Amino acid sequence: MKLEFHGHDERYTVEQSLLNLFPGELPVYEPIRPMEETNWAVVSWREDEKRGRACVELCWQGKSVAYSRGVPLEGRTPYEREGRRRYAIGAAFFLAYQSLTGNTPPWGMLTGVRPDKLVTEALTAGKTPGAARELLEKIYYVTPRRAALALETGTAAFKAAKSLGPRDIAVYIGVPFCPTRCAYCSFVSQSVEKSFSLVDPYVDALAAEIEAGGRMARETGLRVRAMYMGGGTPTTLTAPQLDRVLAAFETAFGPALDACGEITVEAGRPDTITAEKLAVLKAHGVHRISVNPQTMEENVLRAIGRRHSPGDIEAAMGLAANCGFPHVNMDLIAGLPEDTAEGFRRSLDRCLEFGTNNVTVHTLALKKGSRILLEGLTIPGPEAVGEMLDHAEPALRAAGYAPYYLYRQKYMSGSFENIGWTRPGGECLYNIYIMSELCSILSFGAGGSTKMVDPSRRLIQRRFNPKYPKEYTERPEKARSNQADFAAFYAR
Ligand code: SF4
Repeated sequence: MKLEFHGHDERYTVEQSLLNLFPGELPVYEPIRPMEETNWAVVSWREDEKRGRACVELCWQGKSVAYSRGVPLEGRTPYEREGRRRYAIGAAFFLAYQSLTGNTPPWGMLTGVRPDKLVTEALTAGKTPGAARELLEKIYYVTPRRAALALETGTAAFKAAKSLGPRDIAVYIGVPFCPTRCAYCSFVSQSVEKSFSLVDPYVDALAAEIEAGGRMARETGLRVRAMYMGGGTPTTLTAPQLDRVLAAFETAFGPALDACGEITVEAGRPDTITAEKLAVLKAHGVHRISVNPQTMEENVLRAIGRRHSPGDIEAAMGLAANCGFPHVNMDLIAGLPEDTAEGFRRSLDRCLEFGTNNVTVHTLALKKGSRILLEGLTIPGPEAVGEMLDHAEPALRAAGYAPYYLYRQKYMSGSFENIGWTRPGGECLYNIYIMSELCSILSFGAGGSTKMVDPSRRLIQRRFNPKYPKEYTERPEKARSNQADFAAFYAR
């Protein structure tokens, strides 16, 4: 879509709105010829001391409309004025879209990853739950159903934040290997068959990084409240390799783990789960595992490149049940290739029969580099995905689950969301911490993204480990310098 700006250069705001409302449309910055062209937008901004006004003239498939949104600016700091300008431009673009197409996207004009953060912020500022919900519905045009969901998850984050101290952190340990690559994946995860020789050196490097990080955490006086081992698929490692990593974690952090009430390991691919590996996890006090079938439909498993059958998932769940983990999560994805609303319903119903206390329902996100895009696989349309989610919410609520964290990604089918559902007391705090950016996350492993968070200063800084296992193994100095920055962040 051709874009023309007058009186501002809010490219990011307009491009995010474009992506949200017109998936697949790319911004083009060339002069518009309104009489000859069918898809374009002119976005203007005018302001004086007291007020600002955004005007959007939007033309889509030859039909056009103009919409404007004013905001008060009097007495605002330059930073606040900037925020209001962005809001007004986003709102005018959204309202023009809505008036032109008659569509109301589930999350209204919100384009970000964490729509419920607005609720958490409002509650923290002393607003009532009703006012927080009204903010979503009236100011950001979120549909009542999504606003209600965000109120529940934003409230869970508000409560989790209250129990965190200024030196409380979470730890992430990444294992970027998987048995095969799923069709929807763009993660740097390597198929273990192709990269077998990298695994042992990777485990050595990871254990060494954890040892140094644990020392740093103890010396800095940090307390680990939750640890999450993800990937990739951590259970791609052998039982002795898992033992080595978990032992390194326990030894290195030692007393910094006294307040750690949660250790989670993703045992994502059922074909990597064995009784021996689960026994190792249990012996190290792992509280929670996540088994991620994504679907229970045989044809869908094949279409996404999984090598296991629904029977393997059942066997893995049987092994997990024998070990008696306090919490087990299952992940499902709505919108996978070959799936239907009926198939998704069967998958969810089957997961509920397992009696796990956590179910995470994702919506398919189309990621660059995924096989779905590269090979042009057929996926269910937004209506079918909407039907899947329409089934999921009441079915989960009827079975005693409530939503406790949610997030959105770019290019999601139908512009919906991912939601973690739990039975009472089964919340995975790590998921809340990371999604709501409540505390720092110290990350270990290739592709690790360390986040330093100071909620009192609304300050967030990031450091990244080398992306690929080989590079990570060969360049330990980068991870070490990230740890030094982490310590320095807490020395201020
Ligand atoms: S299990 Fe997860 S990380 Fe591994 S290939 Fe599949 S989607 Fe990617």
